[in-house]
Amino acid sequence: MTSPKENIQRLPVARPQLANYLALASYLKIIDETRVYSNFGPLQTQLVQRLQTQVFGQGSHVVACSSGTSALVAAITALQKRWGHKGKLCLVTAHSFVATAAAPELCGFTNVFVDVDPQTWALDPATVRQHPHLDRVGLVMVCSPYGKTIDLAAWQKFHCDTGIPVVVDAAASFDGVAEGALTLPSSIPVVLSLHATKSYSSGEGGLVISRDFELMAMATCSINHGFLGSRHAQMCGHNAKMSEYHAAVGLAELDGWKDKKAKMQKIGDLYQEHWKKAGAPGRVWSSPDVSSCYVLLETASGQDAIEYVECFDRAGIDVRFWYGAGLHKEAAFRNAAHPVAMTVTEDLSERLIGLPCFVDIGENGISRVVGALTC
Ligand SMILES: *Cc1c(COP(=O)(O)O)cnc(C)c1O
Repeated sequence: MTSPKENIQRLPVARPQLANYLALASYLKIIDETRVYSNFGPLQTQLVQRLQTQVFGQGSHVVACSSGTSALVAAITALQKRWGHKGKLCLVTAHSFVATAAAPELCGFTNVFVDVDPQTWALDPATVRQHPHLDRVGLVMVCSPYGKTIDLAAWQKFHCDTGIPVVVDAAASFDGVAEGALTLPSSIPVVLSLHATKSYSSGEGGLVISRDFELMAMATCSINHGFLGSRHAQMCGHNAKMSEYHAAVGLAELDGWKDKKAKMQKIGDLYQEHWKKAGAPGRVWSSPDVSSCYVLLETASGQDAIEYVECFDRAGIDVRFWYGAGLHKEAAFRNAAHPVAMTVTEDLSERLIGLPCFVDIGENGISRVVGALTC
């Protein structure tokens, strides 16, 4: 026997919907005709050109990769080659997805976590400048959390003043970069993820974006076995090229982007409306303040969050703490140094609840989420 409650379908936190097979057909046909499946083929080239000219502009150069994480590795490797910095420590934000901390370790750095600013939820360049081990730092990993806008000009200035390379993990910031909300820095690479859970996607994929052509040549070298113009490895590279199949999905998604973006924006707007009308507790974050793939509930306290999560669970609603409890709490990074307490990260991690957000959640779905807290 199942209770009536169990008969109601659980509401998932994410349910991505990408371009369907009809939208892909004309691109897949090109793959059949060219019999080029990877290695900077015509679809990958077309995708990169459209992104550079129609979407990002600003003299941007784009390197298309197999995932956001491999794009982070490519950006770090390219910076090592470009600036030849000797520092072995990497200062990493403690409030992000695990890939932000994994990528520098994979490239040979030793991570040191840094707490975030309570207003921006991101690393503060002024705080990083005061770091006691700055003389041994060879990289700073900044995150633009949930696609929030961060002060890229301040990071460019940090790099110019200190000579320390910076990578901006803006994995969820496609909306912001595409809509011109971010001015691309002159020599700091910005990395996006095109994973299915992000707003714009190629299924799996990632982008390194920069206005520094030299740096992008090195990122291309990094994702192609260290080859650049010949079959001799110029550096210790990996294989993180975007396949033609993923580029096909990326192109079809680009064709439908305006429509998808409008639908995702509408979900955020409906959440705001319903929340206000019901007088439900906490503050809702939605697009354009965060990426349109997220709707976040910021609660007043960690205790409130625990209670709300129980309410959601009882109502059959899945929610997610997208960045876990803080990167310093992950088993993989527990040995990494964090000389001071990660107070702000821990507080934010407890209070930012990812709510169900997908194109066809519908007003009924949104009412169900709001209703769970107002019953
Ligand atoms: C999604 C995400 C990544 C990882 O991207 P993948 O494409 O899944 O490898 C890295 N950092 C942040 C902040 C993310 O949100």
